[in-house]
Amino acid sequence: MGRTLQNTMINLGLQNACDEAIYQLGLDIEELEEMEEDAGLGNGGLGRLAACFLDSMATLGLAAYGYGIRYEYGIFNQKIKDGWQVEEADDWLRHGNPWEKARPEYMLPVHFYGRVENTKTGPRWVDTQVVLAMPYDTPVPGYMNNTVNTMRLWSARAPNDFNLRDFNVGDYIQAVLDRNLAENISRVLYPNDNFFEGKELRLKQEYFVVAASLQDIIRRFKASKFGCRDSVRTGFDSFPEKVAIQLNDTHPALGIPELMRIFLDIEKLPWDKAWEITKKTFAYTNHTVLPEALERWPVDLVEKLLPRHLQIIYEINQRHLDKISALYPGDVDRLRRMSLIEEDGIKRINMAHLCIVGSHAVNGVAKIHSEIVKNQVFKDFSDIEPAKFQNKTNGITPRRWLLLCNPGLAELIAEKIGEDYVKDLSQLTKLNKFVNDDIFIRDVSKVKEENKLKFIQYLEKEYKMRLNPSSMFDVQVKRIHEYKRQLLNCLHIITMYNRIKANPTKEFVPRTVIIGGKAAPGYHMAKLIIKLITSVGDIVNNDPMVGSKLKVIYLENYRVSLAEKVIPATDLSEQISTAGTEASGTGNMKFMLNGALTIGTMDGANVEMAEEAGEENLFIFGMRVDDVAEMDKKGYNAQEYYHRLPELKQVIDQIQSGFFSPSKPELFKDLVDMLFYHDRFKVFADYEAYVKCQERVSALYKKPKEWTKVVIKNIAASGKFSSDRTIKEYAKDIWGVEPSDLKIPPPNEPREAMEDLKPANAKA
Ligand SMILES: *Cc1c(COP(=O)(O)O)cnc(C)c1O
Repeated sequence: MGRTLQNTMINLGLQNACDEAIYQLGLDIEELEEMEEDAGLGNGGLGRLAACFLDSMATLGLAAYGYGIRYEYGIFNQKIKDGWQVEEADDWLRHGNPWEKARPEYMLPVHFYGRVENTKTGPRWVDTQVVLAMPYDTPVPGYMNNTVNTMRLWSARAPNDFNLRDFNVGDYIQAVLDRNLAENISRVLYPNDNFFEGKELRLKQEYFVVAASLQDIIRRFKASKFGCRDSVRTGFDSFPEKVAIQLNDTHPALGIPELMRIFLDIEKLPWDKAWEITKKTFAYTNHTVLPEALERWPVDLVEKLLPRHLQIIYEINQRHLDKISALYPGDVDRLRRMSLIEEDGIKRINMAHLCIVGSHAVNGVAKIHSEIVKNQVFKDFSDIEPAKFQNKTNGITPRRWLLLCNPGLAELIAEKIGEDYVKDLSQLTKLNKFVNDDIFIRDVSKVKEENKLKFIQYLEKEYKMRLNPSSMFDVQVKRIHEYKRQLLNCLHIITMYNRIKANPTKEFVPRTVIIGGKAAPGYHMAKLIIKLITSVGDIVNNDPMVGSKLKVIYLENYRVSLAEKVIPATDLSEQISTAGTEASGTGNMKFMLNGALTIGTMDGANVEMAEEAGEENLFIFGMRVDDVAEMDKKGYNAQEYYHRLPELKQVIDQIQSGFFSPSKPELFKDLVDMLFYHDRFKVFADYEAYVKCQERVSALYKKPKEWTKVVIKNIAASGKFSSDRTIKEYAKDIWGVEPSDLKIPPPNEPREAMEDLKPANAKA
């Protein structure tokens, strides 16, 4: 979520009044804003996407809840020490959290372990251990519409009789100490991005959020006139009309067997009815096709923790496979491929398969990604139900990612096209009228300059380092991952360094290369990549022959509040993943909206950014998805590039010989070995095209006016990437809900004004 104060003031239309009031008190509101901790309750783009969606749903007037876990420790704080990443605990609640309200009256029990007992009235899950889920509510205000939704996060609490009933009788002290075991469930966020780690505590977290949220949803449904006690059975028929649950990746996949368990074992619905309602209720968003990221939980672990759910998953699978057999008699390989249970090696549950089978809609998050999902990764499933598969291209909220982070640009745009664009970002196309307007061009470049100066001030304070404001700010900020190819960026930095050294008098377009992002603490290669970047920075930044032509900054502890500072100050946005690996990206969209140009591959939403702005207005380079597939067929040979490209050879030889790690020449051996012998992301294959493309970037940057014209074209073309557009598509194509256009009066207006609401509400 990041910070809440400024976002709240903006959405309530109170920012100017608050700024003025604080100023009158002789205080500085920015200083106050800087004191707030980020709520770092997710890893990278996936969690921030959910936050943008909450803002858009409230702004569009959709009655929606965001459910999650109230982690006591969010994503770790990253320190860079001696060039290495060091993790520190994120104790974000230490000074309290003024935005949340505990709701003990809505506390709910969640069961774990135990066994299944077969009774006359059906299976019963018994002898379980209970953990309580305490909800904490955070208001989610819409933008200037007097509407507030709720984000409800669950915190684990031990019941008061925890460990005091059975074998532990008599050891009271130990029993109280053991309450931690239960409360550990919501202690800490697992810090992996795009990587599955099959830990029992993580599985507990996934069931905990799902079990608490489903009880909450069903209680609310039953309290409504649609699910009242007189008509429980007919009432559940209307459940999918009143409730839509969107699964943000497979992390809440257990919601599917959990809702089935509630319908079957508690509400006593027959299987077919329960299954029909469940499928109509759930929809699944896939966020990655990287195999190492797909959740495949060991059957043994699920059986121990959730024995009844395992039975239900087996029953879902049996009926699913029976259908496949009927459609494709004798095709055993297809059955093996499509099973929810993988049988090679230790038995595992494929959670994506469970989500596809248990949902009425499945979507990818950018056009190219949705095509890969439908036609490659889950082709067997789309063969049977092609209409189930959809695309919903991601988006970002223009409130946080323009009004909040870049008020200068937001105001400049408003001067030209009015303020309505904030709620209808497609109106940014009106800026195309001003592409050749010299005054507008000057004003746009002035806003960028001011944003850069402000960011330089921040960096000089934080890093004790002087930066050249007329240099191009070349920025890659995102989680550190091999597929995102920060290494390709690093090879380019070294290439520029070598060119300056070889030809010191030749003109060079000055650059400040900024790289930032967290590596998962257990991801050895990602941590080594950080060390390489900081080591290259140590050499480059201290070489007097280089001077202010080239600087390399490793931006420590990249997080939402830092993104808000660096993105508006960026000239060049690096979006250079291997084609076919980045599902969408949302960082790419934030930069585009804030007046940076993009150097990128034809991957994720970059493809649609190029479609919107015209390919000639982005710096597109490198292999396309088809080229990558062809190379996989022929075999990728890194040595070939190394021997053919002298500048690449020089760069790799330097890394290998210890030029950047003189006190430890072998330091980057694992990294160089990877690049030569097991680089799944083909860094060398795109090196030449990337370096050439960067030369075109520098050439354009030398012509500031031409550069800014392209910037304006990009801003004008970025309207598609509002999360308001994304959410309207989910609402129409998946949830079947209409965005409300009710004008809700402010709370201090007379009650008569509320009369308008009644007929519309009654209809709903
Ligand atoms: C937007 C955002 C991301 C996602 O960036 P990508 O470049 O799409 O991976 C990650 N972290 C933070 C803090 C963000 O704001």
